[in-house]
Amino acid sequence: MDSVYRTIEAHGERSLNLLERLCRQPSISAEGLGLDQMAELVATVMREYGLAAELLPTAGGPPLVYAEIAGRSEHTLLFYNHYDVQPVDPLHEWTSPPFTPTRRDGKLFARGVSDNKGDLAVRLEAIAALREVNGELPLTIKFVVDGEEESGSRTFPAAVRSYRDRLAADVCISEGSGLGVDKTPVLVLGVKGMLYVELSTSAAIVDAHSAYAAVVPNPSWRLVGALATLKHPDGRVALEGFYDRVRPFGPQERAALEAMPDQAEELRRALGLEAFLDDLTGYPWRERLYGAPTCNICGLEAGYTGPGLKTVLPAKARAKVDFRLVPDQTPQEVLAQLRAHLDRHGFNDVAIEPIAAHERPTRTPIDDPWVQTAAAAAEEFYDRRPMIIPNAAGTAPMDVLMDEVTGSLFFAPGGAGYEGSRIHAPDEHIRISDLTDAIKVTALLLTRFGERA
Ligand SMILES: [Zn+2]
Repeated sequence: MDSVYRTIEAHGERSLNLLERLCRQPSISAEGLGLDQMAELVATVMREYGLAAELLPTAGGPPLVYAEIAGRSEHTLLFYNHYDVQPVDPLHEWTSPPFTPTRRDGKLFARGVSDNKGDLAVRLEAIAALREVNGELPLTIKFVVDGEEESGSRTFPAAVRSYRDRLAADVCISEGSGLGVDKTPVLVLGVKGMLYVELSTSAAIVDAHSAYAAVVPNPSWRLVGALATLKHPDGRVALEGFYDRVRPFGPQERAALEAMPDQAEELRRALGLEAFLDDLTGYPWRERLYGAPTCNICGLEAGYTGPGLKTVLPAKARAKVDFRLVPDQTPQEVLAQLRAHLDRHGFNDVAIEPIAAHERPTRTPIDDPWVQTAAAAAEEFYDRRPMIIPNAAGTAPMDVLMDEVTGSLFFAPGGAGYEGSRIHAPDEHIRISDLTDAIKVTALLLTRFGERA
């Protein structure tokens, strides 16, 4: 790998220039800003790096960028990336303008520089170095680049279904995972799923004077009453059957969680909390964070909540509720459980409106051979045992890729960022010195993947 590494080092400035070029183009999916231009730019850049790239239309969303390049082994790897970014506000908290990439104190600042344009630049530079040194790639590589990941990948699942044959791969690496504390490489083997609903109640057709509270039903009481039944006093979700399909962690997964450093205390301080739920710390905290499904009230709205007083009896009350799901729960099943639960408790009048895409949880097993190869490559490069997270606490639209195009999907080292990269926040940045290592470990990963028979 030495000559590949030397080549990567020699191209340090080129890789930074590539990343700056990608970051200069705004691409905020939530605002529909610059997406077509960004998709064109990504396809253009990929062609410059020797890939066959094209834009694939989606039903009502920005296009996917698809690209491929043939390699030596019979195996195929699919890289998932996204070219959209989060909105930039609050703009005044940025030290330099978000779409003017700026180098400062050994760091590169720009919206998207870590999430996720950095990972894309890393992967293209790794491909370039391997081709320059070896004349060919160790295996066939495909890319699917999503244009609305930061807005929930609305049209991505349907698009993947319609292009499934083109995307088919033996293994899929999602976004690169950044480095953990002390440059520990991280592999994340899955994601939680999501069911997001709006619950609403209504009574009168217009808001009324609150003097009528003596005789007019108030939908707020109905709604909070219904919400109060969703959890038992001990915090467990009360929907009948909710836990039936929860797949417990196996011995290898528990060992991986045991080996993780404790992040609970740092988060507790950052959030200014006295304590976590049930005084959780250490291993039980991690097992709960990564392994437990949740039911969370995201927002509540009814009547008057402005300054001072307004004596009103609202006509309507609404709540947004999200359920994070773990293997093998499904959003459809939980939605049915929610309806049945409300009906059973006498809340047939509470309407349920599912919002956005339902996402199923995914979890690739630790003993999956691609996971093992990736973990070994990460250890070979960083000379320390990688941290393996069986599935993230968060959600991403990985279920459709698992269903349609591959049997192994995970997040592997090679991300441009680190735990302090401030993704989604002002002053998003990467450490410039991390970029070369990310390209090198990606090149090593591709090489070891190509060596698999
Ligand atoms: Zn993001």
